[in-house]
Amino acid sequence: MTLYPSKDTKLELYLRRHLFARGMRYRLHDRRLKGTPDLVFPKHQAVIFVHGCFWHAHAGCSGFRLPKSNRKFWVAKFRRNRERDRRACIWLEEHGWRVLTVWECALRRPVCFTFDELLDFVLCWLAGGCHSCEIRGGEPLPSLVMDIDLRQCRKL
Ligand SMILES: [Zn+2]
Repeated sequence: MTLYPSKDTKLELYLRRHLFARGMRYRLHDRRLKGTPDLVFPKHQAVIFVHGCFWHAHAGCSGFRLPKSNRKFWVAKFRRNRERDRRACIWLEEHGWRVLTVWECALRRPVCFTFDELLDFVLCWLAGGCHSCEIRGGEPLPSLVMDIDLRQCRKL
């Protein structure tokens, strides 16, 4: 087990420190919400998950590789993890939350954007009332369809 870090606490800390510095306020690990999102922004009806590419089995990502031994065990485990993530997203959206998933690779080795651009994106996503989406390291930032509330933007 020690081969695989169980939680990407460091990356999550890094992201949330910068969001805090930009004036964003959030709750952490709210257990009342399914999936226990890492960051919860009640004012924006939005949550952020920071997903480790290994544990959350990030498909098509170099950060995810099926371990060579015990394949059956891992396949079952990753399937469960992905299914849990999927169910949490559905539950959250059904309860009026928007979900942003930030993959570990987007913070560690983004190909198409800088960390500052990622931060700008997250702030726009929060304030803009945008639909749920994911930020992956290997792809450009998603395009945002905004439902802009100018009063929120002025506060940023
Ligand atoms: Zn990844």
